[in-house]
Amino acid sequence: MLSFSASAKAEICKENPQSGCCALAQCFGILLFANSFTETQIKIITESQDFARLLPKLFRKAFSVTFDTLPEEGAVGKLVFVIRSPEKIAEIMSAFGFDTGSTLSLHINLPIVEEDCCKAAFLRGAFLAGGSVTSPAKAYHMELATTHQIVSRECDALIRETLGFSPKTASRAGAQVLYLKQSDLISDFLTYLGAPVAAMGIMEARLEKELNNQVNRCCNCDDANTSKVVEAAQEQLAAIRVLRQTQRLETLPGKLLQAARARLENPESSLAELAAMMEPPITKPAMNHRLKRIVELAKEAEQ
Ligand SMILES: [Zn+2]
Repeated sequence: MLSFSASAKAEICKENPQSGCCALAQCFGILLFANSFTETQIKIITESQDFARLLPKLFRKAFSVTFDTLPEEGAVGKLVFVIRSPEKIAEIMSAFGFDTGSTLSLHINLPIVEEDCCKAAFLRGAFLAGGSVTSPAKAYHMELATTHQIVSRECDALIRETLGFSPKTASRAGAQVLYLKQSDLISDFLTYLGAPVAAMGIMEARLEKELNNQVNRCCNCDDANTSKVVEAAQEQLAAIRVLRQTQRLETLPGKLLQAARARLENPESSLAELAAMMEPPITKPAMNHRLKRIVELAKEAEQ
């Protein structure tokens, strides 16, 4: 089974950049968060098979450049991509507006990430090459690591601009790390990067914790109503998990997906409250119907 990080990356790789501007921006993110990006060597190491499949296509699209060293066909584990040819590196550097003749200080060249589509593509590249997200069953942790200090600061600003929050920063073994520890921020970031299913995995974990707390709190009380709400929410949570693990979440109609998200984000809300959150708002019975449908679909998926 894929790690949580690997499946988030697989999801992101499905969104292949269509326009040239985004391909270039995504490669920029990849290179600035790669293992090495200097005048003498470009080296990208990844364990994601999906990213490894996408990478040569992206470089061809953005710069018409091929890698000098590629991982062997069918290789697993750490996959290594290298470019050493000075001509190719100069070509790539100049596409980003860097002049290889002068002293090189790598930074996020703003014209490359001017459009909103390109900002998202850049951050997708950064996450694919230098990012990871821990399974929410273990901890809430998502990070982006780069060896370029200025890039880390600029990326922080870019995340603040596009998502409205600022990650925490740390340095670790020569790398600058931007990281998130809050489940809602991680889930927002994953959604923005184009990994809504991984984002729902984070929300599931949080809902499960909250439900457990509720069960504990309610253990000694005889509030039949509360325990009914908790039971229903637990059943819905289990259903959403089955749908995610069987890759059916991606195929749900928008209305059902919206209902699932609302439940995950609002474990304690009543049906009426959830119904009011829908866009457009729906009635309480209609909300009940959507959640029941989710539970039914999960039962079908399990058969
Ligand atoms: Zn673009």
